[in-house]
Order: sequence, then structure tokens, then C-alpha cells
Amino acid sequence: MPRPFSKVLIANRGEIALRVHRACQEMGIRTVAVHSTADASAMHVRLADESVCIGPPPARESYLNVAAILSAATITGAEAIHPGYGFLSENARFAEMVEAHGLTFIGPTAEHIRMMGDKIAAKDAMRRLGVPLVPGSLGALESLEEARAVAEQVKYPVLIKAAAGGGGRGMKVARHEDELEEAWRVARTEAKAAFGDDSVYLEKYLDRPRHIELQVLADTHGNVVHFGERDCSLQRRHQKLVEEAGSPVLSAAERDALGAQVTQALRQLGYRNAGTLEFLWQDGQFAFIEMNTRLQVEHPVTEMVCGVDLVREQIRIAGGEALGYGQEDVRFSGHAIECRITAEDPESFAPSPGRVSTYHAPGGLGVRVDSALYSGYSVPPHYDSLVAKLVVHAPTREGAIARARRALDEMVVDGIRTTLPLHRRIMDDPEFQSGDYTIHWLERFVSRAG
Ligand code: ADP
Repeated sequence: MPRPFSKVLIANRGEIALRVHRACQEMGIRTVAVHSTADASAMHVRLADESVCIGPPPARESYLNVAAILSAATITGAEAIHPGYGFLSENARFAEMVEAHGLTFIGPTAEHIRMMGDKIAAKDAMRRLGVPLVPGSLGALESLEEARAVAEQVKYPVLIKAAAGGGGRGMKVARHEDELEEAWRVARTEAKAAFGDDSVYLEKYLDRPRHIELQVLADTHGNVVHFGERDCSLQRRHQKLVEEAGSPVLSAAERDALGAQVTQALRQLGYRNAGTLEFLWQDGQFAFIEMNTRLQVEHPVTEMVCGVDLVREQIRIAGGEALGYGQEDVRFSGHAIECRITAEDPESFAPSPGRVSTYHAPGGLGVRVDSALYSGYSVPPHYDSLVAKLVVHAPTREGAIARARRALDEMVVDGIRTTLPLHRRIMDDPEFQSGDYTIHWLERFVSRAG
């Protein structure tokens, strides 16, 4: 099989830059790392075949600096750009500019990135395609009065959400009518400050849902295949901490039914490359909340249960290759769990950047660590606090939990504070072990004394 590209630029940093580099190396593709001055000695720079400094530490001037990144691609002769997650990965304008420079953007079309980046447009598209939604307003809310009217209809509690939202920002709950005005005002102010866009919409606030998402790949020949679900219900402040594949509550038949509906919708949409549809699940019902048009942080749990390399598939698809397999070829084997380990205090969640004096990664059967750490590395204060993803795989969920507990005990990150102790507590907890938890469970768990 010829290589789809001979050189790829990785427009990211940290563990995900390494993840993309590894897929490229195995495909015989050379890599170009880009980095800020704060990341000159970062692992992704060390491993890449070439590297280019693209600016000072603040992301706005480096990892979000489109002109510098496009120049780096041009001077190194890269043919394609992989954006990873975060930074420019869901920036439609960036995808357009990459293509305008005669390069390939390893991801969906700018049109689909734009559509799904506007959650109101995304929900509208999914509604038309017959995908079930969380009940709420049909478009952007024009006024507080309209918000009141929709809230009356769907019944309190309700959630005001930013159309441009992400990372849990611009989201406010109103439990009763008298809280609506405040929620409306705060959500809009937050949305304006974070995204420069104060459009908001309203959803019924589900009281005990699970967050279950479906991984999809689509090639440019009309083939769409799903790789099952990830359960990402363990969240703090709407941010995921632990993810599992499969979900402890979903049967194979329910997975197949959702998968059939979603792949059909994306085929109709003409979607391409990797994508994830996020749903809330309650009482056996799925309700779509948003679609992410990129590789996700938690993609490894899917890779472990399906035996697929999602980054390799993204690159092949971007090179115009057909998937070469169908839904019936996707097999699910065992159970996988990911712990997101961040450089934060495990109780207060205060950031804890600094020098890592000792780093030791766990190993053994069914253990994978995606991390850019090494002994002597200094975690810079400028970026996301994720420093390692510990991913375990075993034939059963019980086996995966036992393996996660064992691997967490082996793992050493000294010199900075990390959330390793919190992950150990979660894995030791009988309620977590029972699999019976909702999106609110972790918030209560962390507020209990450690
Ligand atoms: P973001 O893009 O900011 O991550 P999402 O729409 O994906 O926002 O929602 C993030 C999380 O917020 C969900 O995983 C879920 O925990 C919670 N959430 C979102 N919508 C609702 C809702 N209608 N009811 C209850 N919880 C919700």
C-alpha cells in the first residue's frame, strides 16, 4: 500500500502530538513538530523528524498562530496537517486556509466543522436527519421572554447553553422560574467573554443522565462505520475524568441500533473523517447534545476494544483511501478504561505545573500510557493540565478495574502534584465498580473527604 503522504505536520503539543507522531512513523510518514519557546525540550519535539519554533509561550501566539503554522508546513515541505484536539482542530477557517495553501487538512470539511461548531445548527441538522434530541428551543433564543416560554413547555429544571460552547463554559442551570433570568444573563455574559458570541439556546436539564458517545469514521467514498460507544459520565465541571468502552449500561443490541441510526445520518450528511456524536442517555433513551469533528482525548479506549488505530485511519481517509472494511468487520473485545491524569492538586484542583523529578510509567499486559512526560521535564504553566492518559484493557470490566488499580499503583510522577490519588480512590470505590453512576456522581464523590 503506498503511503498517503510522505510528510505530515502535527499542529499540536503534549501527548496528542506524540500520538499522531507514532501513527505516522508506523506508516513510514515523516513528521514535523511545531512548538512554542516554552516547549523547546518537549517530547514531541524530540521525537519528530523535524521541528519548527512557531512563537512565544501563549497559545494565541504559537499553537493558534495560523500564519506561523502554515509557514512551517511550507518551508518543511509537509503535505498534510494533523490538528490533534483542542487548539485549531475545530477551527473551520484554519481548515480552509490549509486547503487554500495546497495542503491536506486531516479532518472533516470546513463546512461540517462550522456546522457542528454551532451547536444550534448541529442540533438542527441532526433533528432533520431523524436523530433524537434533548427537548428544548429549536433555534437561538431571541429574548428572555422566549426562554421563559420554552422553559414552561419543557418544564424546569432547564439549562441555558452557549451556541459556540465548549469545555463546559457558557452553561447555566435554572432549577425554577425565578432562576431563569440569572442563568440567561450569566450564560450570555460567559459565552460572549469566552467565544465572542452570546447566542444561547435552552435544553431541558436531565437530572440523572449518562454521557454516552459514539465514535464514527467516514471515508470519501461514502463508507461510514461506527466503533461503538464510550461512556464519559465521570465528569467534574462538565469535564471528563474517566472514560470507559463499552458503557456498563448498554447492550449490544442498543449499541447496534444507535450505530445504525448515526451512520445513516452521517452518510446522508456526506461527512468525512473521524467524528463523535455525544448523547445523554436516561431511562434507555438517547438524546443528542453535540458532535465533535475531531479526534477526541478519550479515543484510546475505543482503539483498545476494537483493535483499530484511529489516527492511522484518519490519515488514510485524508489521503483518499477507502476504509476497506464494513460494519460487520468491526468487532468489540473486552473492556477498556482511561484515567486522565492532570497536573493538578487531587483535592483542590489547583494547577501544579513544574519540574517532574521522577517519572515512571506502568506496564504489563493490557496497559497503555499516552504521555509526553519524562524525568526532568518541566510541565509549563501555559497549557492544558493533562499530562498522561493511563489506558487499560482486559476481557471484562472487573478485570479492567483490577488492572487500572494495579497500574495506578505502579505509576510514579514526583515533583508535581497530580490527580493520581483521586483516580486510585475512584477505582477503589464500590459504587464506581458497580457501574451504576450518572454525570453527577463524580462531583459528589470529589466533595466527599478523601
Ligand atoms: P461542552 O461542549 O461545553 O462540553 P456539552 O453540550 O458537550 O458541552 O455538555 C457537556 C456536559 O454537560 C455533558 O457531558 C453533560 O454532563 C452536561 N450536560 C449538557 N447538556 C445537558 C442537559 N441538557 N442536561 C444535563 N446535563 C447536560
